[in-house]
Amino acid sequence: MKTTPSERIFNLKQFGEFGDVNPSVTDSATYTFMQAKTMTETFQGEAEGCFLYSRHWNPSNKYLADALAAMEGTEAGWVTASGMGAITTVLLQLCKSGDHIVSSMTTYGGTFAFMQNWLPRFNIEVTFVDITNLEAVKAAIRPNTKLIYTETMTNPLLQISDLPALSAITRSAGIKLVVDNTFTPLMVEPAKHGADIVVYSLTKFINGKNDCVAGAICASQEFINSLVDVNDGTAMLLGPVLDPFRSSSILKNLHTLHIRMKQHSYNAMYLAERFKETGLKFNYPGLPNHKGHETLKKMLNTRYGFGGMISIDLGTAEKANELMEKMELADVGYLAVSLGYFKTLFSNSGKSTSSEVPEEIQREMGLSEGLVRFSVGLDDDIENTWQRIKTCLIETGTI
Ligand SMILES: *Cc1c(COP(=O)(O)O)cnc(C)c1O
Repeated sequence: MKTTPSERIFNLKQFGEFGDVNPSVTDSATYTFMQAKTMTETFQGEAEGCFLYSRHWNPSNKYLADALAAMEGTEAGWVTASGMGAITTVLLQLCKSGDHIVSSMTTYGGTFAFMQNWLPRFNIEVTFVDITNLEAVKAAIRPNTKLIYTETMTNPLLQISDLPALSAITRSAGIKLVVDNTFTPLMVEPAKHGADIVVYSLTKFINGKNDCVAGAICASQEFINSLVDVNDGTAMLLGPVLDPFRSSSILKNLHTLHIRMKQHSYNAMYLAERFKETGLKFNYPGLPNHKGHETLKKMLNTRYGFGGMISIDLGTAEKANELMEKMELADVGYLAVSLGYFKTLFSNSGKSTSSEVPEEIQREMGLSEGLVRFSVGLDDDIENTWQRIKTCLIETGTI
């Protein structure tokens, strides 16, 4: 039977010990055992359903991790204190000194900085490629390459990674495909398209409330077990664990994700069509003029739409700033980084979330200094929001 990723979450019977429909929060750092033998077995990873210590596993974190694994269609999951916590935990688990990574040149700024500035300290080399150029991806693979890293929809140009094609490359090379699906939850199920490991910043669409940072890793049971191995697991030894109170509140928000994604997508598509009519330079993968449109369509669960991210190019940083300040005053939303919030957020990518990327690489990526990225909110009357944006565009002489 075909189910949607959201239905798979819905169908989980995750009620608490007392029949509580919102499972109670387990705010305990450690757990007692009635038999010493069971404690030893738990340390050896052999006692099913037993908890040991909350840096390893916590019942509230397990509820959220299980729900995310159900959504992704992977065997297991683990939740982290931030998206960067998820990404660094995975990369350090898979790579050691002397290894090599092939990564998309356009990734989240923090991911890029970690790969560019931090991994070389441990003699792990990264080759950055245009991830849509499959020949360049293949050519970058070396005997010591451990993985290809990409984002389904890359920040901030909204390039689309061809996951089936990339997974064909990683499978024939015997290496892993690691995919950050933060921009496209529910819309694309990377594991279904061949990703071995899916990472998330839950901070964005999945939580959707901008009240915390959190992250997740979805993968095979074997890989998740390796992360929490008491002897050499990065999750266990670096300690990026999520607080169970946060897990519990994120789990509640996860249950409305499908409704929110549809509204984010509906509103972004509406704005894209208006931007198109006015002749603005814009990026939205939902319209056929975007380079990745067909690739996205091939992977997309269409019921959730093409996503809530859209960017426009104002040419210069000055123009971008002027527009953003006007839009904030006109109640379009907030001049703020981040995304997936119920209010519209906008920022100049080159001067904020991608400022870790050196300017010459920004140019090489095609990232204009006047690029304004919107995370379109859940506005009930997007037509009205468009009128406000339009006024700002006219006042700045953009249209
Ligand atoms: C925000 C973000 C991250 C980092 O997540 P944090 O929760 O801020 O640590 C990673 N990848 C993408 C695509 C993001 O947007």
